[in-house]
Amino acid sequence: MENSTNPTDFFQRTIQCERCKENFAQKYVFGRKEWSQINEVSYWTNGKTWQDCRFLCRSCLKVWHGDFRKEFNSLVELRKRKIFSNYKNNGVFDKKDKINERKASL
Ligand SMILES: [Zn+2]
Repeated sequence: MENSTNPTDFFQRTIQCERCKENFAQKYVFGRKEWSQINEVSYWTNGKTWQDCRFLCRSCLKVWHGDFRKEFNSLVELRKRKIFSNYKNNGVFDKKDKINERKASL
C-alpha cells in the first residue's frame, strides 16, 4: 500500500451543519491562511444568512443552490454565483465532508 497520508487532513475542524445537523469538516486553506469559506453562508451572501443558517455542509449548499434557486439568486451576487457554479461543475460540492461521529472525538 502506498503511503497516502495527506498532511492537510490534520488541518481541518469540525463544524455542525445548521441545516441537516450533521458534523462536517471545514478545511484550512494554507495559501490564504484561513479556514475555507466555502461552507460559510455569509461568504456567499456578503454577510447574510439563509434560513438562519451560517454554516452549511456541501450537500446542503447543493440543495440551497439546486432547490432554492430563487432564494439563492436573491441572496448571492452574480460574481459569487459564478464562483459557486464553477465549484459545482468541478464537483467540489460532491466531495464527502461528513464526519463519522465516533472518529471525530479524540
Ligand atoms: Zn447539511
